[in-house]
Amino acid sequence: MGKKIVIALGGNALGNNLPEQMVAVKETAKAIADLIEEGHEVVVSHGNGPQVGMIQKAMTWLAKNDSKYTLAPLSVCVAMSQGYIGYDLQNALREELLNRGIKKAVSTVLTQVAVDPEDPAFQNPTKPIGAFMSKEEADQLIAKGDHVVEDAGRGYRRVVASPRPRDIVELDVVKALLESGQVVIACGGGGIPVIEQGNHLKGVPAVIDKDFASCRMAQLIQADCLIILTAVEKVAVNFGKPNQMWLSDITPELAREYIAEGHFAPGSMLPKVEAAVEFAESAPGRYALITLLEKAKDGIAGKTGTTIHQ
Ligand code: ADP
Ligand code: MG
Repeated sequence: MGKKIVIALGGNALGNNLPEQMVAVKETAKAIADLIEEGHEVVVSHGNGPQVGMIQKAMTWLAKNDSKYTLAPLSVCVAMSQGYIGYDLQNALREELLNRGIKKAVSTVLTQVAVDPEDPAFQNPTKPIGAFMSKEEADQLIAKGDHVVEDAGRGYRRVVASPRPRDIVELDVVKALLESGQVVIACGGGGIPVIEQGNHLKGVPAVIDKDFASCRMAQLIQADCLIILTAVEKVAVNFGKPNQMWLSDITPELAREYIAEGHFAPGSMLPKVEAAVEFAESAPGRYALITLLEKAKDGIAGKTGTTIHQ
């Protein structure tokens, strides 16, 4: 029986620059095609850290060196990253599917994710973005209302908020494509963060965690399974310590205990486990799987990975 699956791809699925991405997407496409070949309906989301960093640096350099250009808003940089990653990923997937004799359209949806303007994250921006700056450049940004932190002698860096995703603006588009049998890439980089102002959607300088956005999308499309693919085969407690223990099958309750005990690194494994717990608890029968990109097929077959279910 085919399942409805959201696959969230981590940094290793895309590499760190253009040439790396061209190579990485080929292997990533195989992992995704394995699941499509088994008859599952698939929506793919992905991170964009290195890519949005690259675009933001390039646009900042341009504005600094050519007076014809102004700084590009971060929301625009996220949109650019969705387009460029989607382009590589959808073509790699299309080709891999055709090589296997599967004729399925693959498309990328530029996805906006509405956040709450009152989200407490806006009071405490923590996510560093872009290149290091001088004191003068930092002062200019502060005057514009941006947040800047000094990074232990290395210079100044802009920081932005990481609010929780609330609604997915293009949800009906994603659903329609899925229902017509297509493969969809959506919510890239956690989505383009926007706030709703009446009929207007205003882009905000923030970064939504892709694991939380994927979890939200999986709930809203009523997926059976959220698969978070990353650079480890299983989640561990006491990670990297002599008493490290790999986890195969845990309940949301147990996962929450491990979270409270501080087993998962903030900004890396913690949001994945939190997203997995939220999805597993969102409706009966739903489960989440965290595993290595190359092990997606074995993971869904129950042979490996960390499964979180009630
Ligand atoms: P992404 O794949 O989305 O880019 P990250 O690279 O940020 O994700 O986070 C995944 C990494 O988190 C793993 O490769 C691993 O090195 C690290 N990690 C931190 N804590 C744990 C843990 N408790 N169990 C397993 N991996 C962990
Ligand atoms: Mg990473």
